[in-house]
Amino acid sequence: MDKIWEEMYEAAKAVLNARKISDYVTCGEVAAAVLSKSGKIYTGVCIDTCSTLGICAERNAIFNMITNGEHEIARVLSLMEDHIGGAPCGACRELMVQLMPGKYHGIEILMDYTTGRVMTLGELTPEWWIK
Ligand SMILES: [Zn+2]
Repeated sequence: MDKIWEEMYEAAKAVLNARKISDYVTCGEVAAAVLSKSGKIYTGVCIDTCSTLGICAERNAIFNMITNGEHEIARVLSLMEDHIGGAPCGACRELMVQLMPGKYHGIEILMDYTTGRVMTLGELTPEWWIK
């Protein structure tokens, strides 16, 4: 596990904070850290609501990156209280493909922090409607 993954882990862990905001909104059960091409780390947490108004931690972190003027992703890490790492859901993968058509294959995803297993988005989604 290299230093950058460690920094991403610490950044995501710092915002991991499961809590109830209202009778209709919970958040923080999942936290994500996205490394941009420039080397900055952006974080986000999942927000769960009634009527599907919420967002995954990964997309929240990507939107944070976009808000700060960047749009190219190098790495993605997500974590929960009981396990670390894993593949982003289909909606998050779709956003990454649409942000980086032709270049998304190289995005690195941490699958398991404990073993250091990493896959690329290209390996996870080899055939996409955007080539
Ligand atoms: Zn997702």
